[in-house]
Amino acid sequence: MQRSMLFLLALILASCQPGVYKHGNKKERAMAHLKANLEFLASDALKGRETGSADIDVAAEFIASRLELYGLRPFTGAKSFLSPVPLSMKGINDSSYIQLKSGRRGINRHFYAYSAGDSAYRGTEQQLVFVRFGITDSTFDYNDYENLDVRGKTVVLLLGEPERADDEAFFNGKRPTKWSRSSRIKRKLAREQGAGGVIVLLSPKGMNMWKSMSRFMGRGKLGLVQKPVREIPEILVDSTLAKALFDINGLSYADMYEKLKDPAFDASALNAKTIRWNLYASDKAVTANNIVAVLPGSDPRLAGDYILVGAHYDHIGLRDGQVYNGADDNGSGTVVVLETARQMAHIKRNRRPVIFVWFTGEEKGLLGSKYMIEHAPFRDNIRAVVNMDMVGRENADSIYVLASGLSSSAYHALVEEANKKSARFVFNYSLDSRDHPERILFRSDHWSFAKKGIPTVFFTDYHQTDYHKPGDDADKINFLKLEKAVELTRQTVLDAANGNDDFIRDNWTEEAK
Ligand SMILES: [Zn+2]
Repeated sequence: MQRSMLFLLALILASCQPGVYKHGNKKERAMAHLKANLEFLASDALKGRETGSADIDVAAEFIASRLELYGLRPFTGAKSFLSPVPLSMKGINDSSYIQLKSGRRGINRHFYAYSAGDSAYRGTEQQLVFVRFGITDSTFDYNDYENLDVRGKTVVLLLGEPERADDEAFFNGKRPTKWSRSSRIKRKLAREQGAGGVIVLLSPKGMNMWKSMSRFMGRGKLGLVQKPVREIPEILVDSTLAKALFDINGLSYADMYEKLKDPAFDASALNAKTIRWNLYASDKAVTANNIVAVLPGSDPRLAGDYILVGAHYDHIGLRDGQVYNGADDNGSGTVVVLETARQMAHIKRNRRPVIFVWFTGEEKGLLGSKYMIEHAPFRDNIRAVVNMDMVGRENADSIYVLASGLSSSAYHALVEEANKKSARFVFNYSLDSRDHPERILFRSDHWSFAKKGIPTVFFTDYHQTDYHKPGDDADKINFLKLEKAVELTRQTVLDAANGNDDFIRDNWTEEAK
């Protein structure tokens, strides 16, 4: 009796303890920060934070002003938190055209262009030659260029790869090989064969999407500034032009395409024709910014040994007048890293320095992280990486974890332990495979570090419903989950920053690379 009375009293006292009360308060404060930051970043005012737009600069300034407030510093020697990433917008000029016997054709009507080619090709007239799929692959004992002289000619080829009924081994049956992934390797092969240009024909299914392709084919492509590479012109033609090239009338495009796939097809009508190339490349410099902040460590002997924690802050902008707010992708990761920075700057318990990064250009092809791993002054001293992309939706108690064991089993164990000490998420590893059809392992900024063998972990919620849709809004975010993501991130970063483990790259074998 007495004992239980005492127990009750202890419970009442415990609930009044300032420590317990404060703990609840901390969580609430974290959630308030997360919410306020996310509601701003994912508001319509920022128009979807597209890399290259002025709107993403507002997001960058907002993040930088928060960092200033939280007491973080730019990286040693840098004047600001904004770290420039030189990009270029490459496109094909609207005045581009091709000249065929049937007349002059302007770009973006009957054809789209992948590559304008070098200026050396401008004005040149080339004979056409049909090369079916334009593939040479010894694995399948297959060669479309056999007995063909394509030097100085424009090759006309079909997108995709051949198949044989009942032969599952031939070009992997229904599973596409590298030849179906993009036409770029076919262009490379054509160039190696001496061809001076490429004309690509879509499958009938692809041709049905001709109109909607204008959305991405007509626009330029943002990329890292690179040394110019030798290139031949390459275009994609519509069904009208395709039929005119082969002098095929009266057949549907689908029927014509079936004929073209047949090795016995007679392409003499096409091979008698010529094309005159007049494509003009356009190239505009664009400056984007990664955001980089440092929290110095307490141990001067470890000052050159960095733990990097990051998330991309760009999204895909506006489409057809609609704002794609990207609250989960990746407003969620952006504010989790911000809140982690705020808390860690407050407690100052890290022995090694921590670098907080917000990447730009992720949606354009991991541009910010690719640039960082090649150019940042700290690139060779990154000891471990935590990256997240979409962490505020789906099940609040579980999270997908990728790449943690790719390089170091010790790092994998550290992340597991950190989770047990903090958020206690159920870790889901089902996406953590090079063979997963959706290739999530390669699809966010962590990959730029992981592929170099740097111990790296990637967290994501694998949310599908509003992925890259206008409905990815802040009101659908689970802030309890975000707060847990902060706990997990903070603990992982602290353990990596303070531990003695060297993260031997025991799993990073020749095979793994
Ligand atoms: Zn993303």
